[in-house]
Amino acid sequence: QVVNYAPFTLLPSAVPSALFEQAYAVQQDFNLLVDAISQNKEFLERTLASTIKADDFTAQLFRIHMQVLEEGLAQSVFLGINRSDYMFDCGVDGTPALKQIEINTIAASFGGLTSRTAAVHGRVLKVLGKYKEASRLLPNNPSEGLALGIAKAWELYGSQSAVVMFLVEEVQRNIFDQRCVENELWNRNIRVIRKRFRDVFETGSLDDARRLYVDGQEVAVVYYREGYVPQNYDQQNWEARLLLERSRAVKCPDIATQLAGTKKVQQELSRPGTLERLLPGRAETVARIRATFAGLYSLDVGEEGDQIAAMAIADPDRFVLKPQREGGGNNLYGEELRQVLEKIRDSPERTSYILMDKIKPQPAMNYLLRAHSPLEVSECISELGIFGVYVRQGKEMVMNTAAGHLLRTKAIEHADGGVAAGVAVLDTPYLV
Ligand code: ADP
Ligand code: MG
Repeated sequence: QVVNYAPFTLLPSAVPSALFEQAYAVQQDFNLLVDAISQNKEFLERTLASTIKADDFTAQLFRIHMQVLEEGLAQSVFLGINRSDYMFDCGVDGTPALKQIEINTIAASFGGLTSRTAAVHGRVLKVLGKYKEASRLLPNNPSEGLALGIAKAWELYGSQSAVVMFLVEEVQRNIFDQRCVENELWNRNIRVIRKRFRDVFETGSLDDARRLYVDGQEVAVVYYREGYVPQNYDQQNWEARLLLERSRAVKCPDIATQLAGTKKVQQELSRPGTLERLLPGRAETVARIRATFAGLYSLDVGEEGDQIAAMAIADPDRFVLKPQREGGGNNLYGEELRQVLEKIRDSPERTSYILMDKIKPQPAMNYLLRAHSPLEVSECISELGIFGVYVRQGKEMVMNTAAGHLLRTKAIEHADGGVAAGVAVLDTPYLV
């Protein structure tokens, strides 16, 4: 087994304070939106209809979603932990604007490790004699905020002896990030177990009331840190996923909420009128959410999609082409975007993608510190994430919070990729 330190920037990066505040201010709105989508069977069905014809992974998730609804939900408490990611788009006059890259509704990571980065950067600034600047770094503790959500869901589930189960990867590359959240739960006297899909397949069962037991222990909350890419699944793992979804345990997220985080849903949200229909009577919420949207375009078969494809092929540097995948390193840019789109232009395969305006942030210099990599100064851009946590019991929202932030920074030569993909590193915002 090999342990490396998580990569980080030497110095904190400048973030415009107005945009930082805007990102926090819209988080509860996004929590409401994700939760509303997850309960809207017709919307998910209509929105994903074209995608599931072209993308097997989304189709399989969708099949489980429908199967669970047909049987009737055993789960009555719902827990969402998401992370809404943004970049600061530089307009023609140089004014930066907050633009959402995506919202992650499953396995949104680095809330644990980033709870430590402000201390690291504070120390670096002090070594440099910059005490005043060090004192201005904001406290940030998503570990605690995430754990408070999990603890609330555990409490509402209502069984003192039941455990929280972290559903983890076969090969665990980010265990310490998860341990930070786990520790907060043990501190609140909540028992945590760590299991893989394989363990669930081998030892999981439901009783008559569809209570979930794994390895002999009743599970109150399933917190997925796995299960968001096709490679996480073989036939047995799909069976394990179905068992979990059918159970009474609180899933974070349930499969409907995972589907609410697909790129296709994100694109449909940007259509005029969609937000209004999903959040009726909430004009201010809708306005705050819409202000963060970049241009998003459907590539569905038909005239609209034909025009969009032609527009992107003519000017590929203006756009990003995104498949229904998570975890970084899947998007297409520039010449590659043009070639792929030309190839699939007349095929239904194109509906497995969406197109998005490319965000162009102002770069800044920093050092990216990564184990076994040379130390050199790089031109960098940053992506800000805000963690959202909410708990709903039946129809009633009992918790809805913004639980902290994450700043990730990467060298500009990498168009794509997060920390797990080995491209971005952990950072701390320095508000300006
Ligand atoms: P994933 O689910 O793989 O994380 P993202 O939509 O977050 O997919 O894209 C991965 C990365 O690609 C982002 O972290 C960002 O660096 C870059 N990226 C995504 N969308 C855009 C965009 N519209 N403009 C510029 N860069 C983008
Ligand atoms: Mg992302």
